[in-house]
Amino acid sequence: MGYFVIDLTAGIAIIAAAIFIVVLLIVFVVKLRNGQFKQNLMNQEYQDMKERYRELEDIYNSSLSSLSDLTGKYDELSKNKESMKKLAYTDYLTELPNRAAFTEMLDNIMLTLRSEETIAIMDIDIDNFKNINDSLGHSYGDELLIDVTYRLKQVLDENDYLARIGGDEFIVLTQNLQDTVYFEDKIKKIKNVFTYPFVLSTKEYFVTVSIGVAFAPKDGKSSQSLIKNVDSAMYVAKANGKNTHAYFDYSFNLKLTEKIETQSELRKAIERNEFVLFYQAQMDLETKQVVGFEALIRWNHPTKGLVFPDEFIYLAEETGLIIPIGKWVLQTACQQLKQWSEEYPNIKMAVNLSARQFKDREIVKLVYDVIEETGINSNNLELEITETIALDDIEYTIATIHELKKIGVKFSLDDFGTGYSSMNYLKRLPVSNLKIDKSFLDTVMEDRSDQKIIQTIITLARNLDLNVIAEGVENFDQEVFLKEANCDKAQGFLYSKPIPKDLAVLFLRKQDAIL
Ligand code: C2E
Ligand code: CA
Ligand code: CA
Repeated sequence: MGYFVIDLTAGIAIIAAAIFIVVLLIVFVVKLRNGQFKQNLMNQEYQDMKERYRELEDIYNSSLSSLSDLTGKYDELSKNKESMKKLAYTDYLTELPNRAAFTEMLDNIMLTLRSEETIAIMDIDIDNFKNINDSLGHSYGDELLIDVTYRLKQVLDENDYLARIGGDEFIVLTQNLQDTVYFEDKIKKIKNVFTYPFVLSTKEYFVTVSIGVAFAPKDGKSSQSLIKNVDSAMYVAKANGKNTHAYFDYSFNLKLTEKIETQSELRKAIERNEFVLFYQAQMDLETKQVVGFEALIRWNHPTKGLVFPDEFIYLAEETGLIIPIGKWVLQTACQQLKQWSEEYPNIKMAVNLSARQFKDREIVKLVYDVIEETGINSNNLELEITETIALDDIEYTIATIHELKKIGVKFSLDDFGTGYSSMNYLKRLPVSNLKIDKSFLDTVMEDRSDQKIIQTIITLARNLDLNVIAEGVENFDQEVFLKEANCDKAQGFLYSKPIPKDLAVLFLRKQDAIL
C-alpha cells in the first residue's frame, strides 16, 4: 500500500512536471513565434524604408539636375536680359550709348550732384545733314556719322561721356569740371575735328556743326531742365547762322516766350490785313532796263512798325501759317503783275516760295488757280526756291517744276552757292534762272576766289542754258565786274531797295522816261 502511495505522489509530480514543461514549451514556442513575427515585420519595414529612401534619392537626384537646368536657364536669361539692355541702350550704327542710356546716366548724376560740383553737356548737331543724306544717299549719311563718332572719340578724355541721341545729334557729358572757363578749349577741340573734310564716295565734303552748351547745376537742377536748356542753346547756335556754338542763357527762355507771342500775333495778322508787299527791281545788265520785280513781304505790326521777313517767315514756316500767308503773297503779287502788265506787258514778277509751301501738295493747283483768278500771263511769273529746298526731294521738285512749266511758269534757284550745290543735280533741275547769292557779291571786289566762283557759276549756267541774276549789287564796281562776267541780270540797292507798289510804279515810269 505504501508503495502505491509513493507511486501516486511520484506520478502526480511527474504529471505536474510534464505539464510545467509543456506550458514552458508552449510559452517558448509562442515567444519564439512572436519574435519571428516581429523580426519579419521589422524586416518588412526596413525594406519599405529602403524603398522609400531610394525613391527620395531619385527625387533628390532629379531635383538636383532640374536645379542645374534652372541655373543654366537663369544664366541664359540674365545674359539675354543683359544683351537686350545693351541693345536698348546702344545706338546700332555708331555703337555709342543712345538717348535712353544718356538720360539714365544724366538722371543718376543729377541725383548725386554736390553743390560744389559742375558738369557740362554739349549738344552737337551736324548742320545740313539732311542734304548729305538726300543727295548722296543714306548709306553715305551713315558713313559720315561713323566718321564723326570716330573723330569725336579722338578728342575726348576719361571725364567725357559721348552719346548719339538723334539722327545727326551727339551729346558730350563732361564730369569733374574744374572751371567752366576751360570748357572753351574742349569746344575748340571739337570744332577742329570738322576743319578737315570727310571723304564720302571718293569725294571730299566739309561738314560743320552747331553746338549748344549748358552747365549743371547752374543751367538746370534736373536732368529734364538741363536737356531742355542745352537744346535751346543749340537752336540759338543754329539761328546764329550755324557752324557756331552758344552757351545757354536764361534770356533764351524769355525769347521763347516772345516767340510764342509773335506766333499768336502772326495768326491774327492775316485777318487784320497787316501784311504788305514791297517790290525790288531786277535790272537787265545789258539794256539797264527794269525787267521785273521781286515781291518781298513786310509785316505792318501794330506796335513794332514794319517788321522784316527774316523775323517772322521762319515762325510762319514752323507753325504752318506760311500756307495762308504764302497764298496771300502769290495772289497780291499776281494782282499787281496784272495791273502793271497793262502798261508793261513783258514785266516779270518773282515770288518767293518757302520750303513748306513748295512741298505742299496743293502748290500746283494754287498757282493754276491764282493765274486763272488774276488773269496774268503765266510766262511772266517766276517762282523762287532755294537750292536746299529744291534738293530736299529732287524727284518731287522735278515733277512739280515740270507741271508748272507746262503753262509757262518759271523757276529760279535762290541764294545759289550757299547751300549744298551739287552740279549733278543742277543738271536735272528744270529751273530757268540761278540767283547768285549776295554773300559772293559782298567780297567780290577784294576776294579773287569769289570772282572765280561767280565766273564759274555764270559759265555753268550758260552751259545749262540758264539765266543768271546777281543779288545784292550795291556799287558800280560790282556791276562792271558782273557785266564783264557776262551776267544777265542784277538786283540790289544800287538800283533800288524793295519799295511799296506806288514807288515801284514811279521807278518803272522813271526808267521809261530815260529810255
Ligand atoms: P531773298 O529772297 O534772298 O531776298 C533778298 C533779300 O536781300 C531781301 O531781304 C532784300 O531786301 C535784300 N537785298 C536785296 N538787295 C540788297 C542789297 O543790295 N543789299 C542788301 N544788304 N540787301 C539786299 P528781305 O526783303 O528782308 O527778305 C529776306 C528774305 O525773306 C528773302 O530773302 C526771302 O528768303 C524771305 N522772304 C521775303 N519775302 C518773302 C515771301 O513773300 N515769302 C517767303 N516765303 N519768303 C520771303
Ligand atoms: Ca528771293
Ligand atoms: Ca536770295
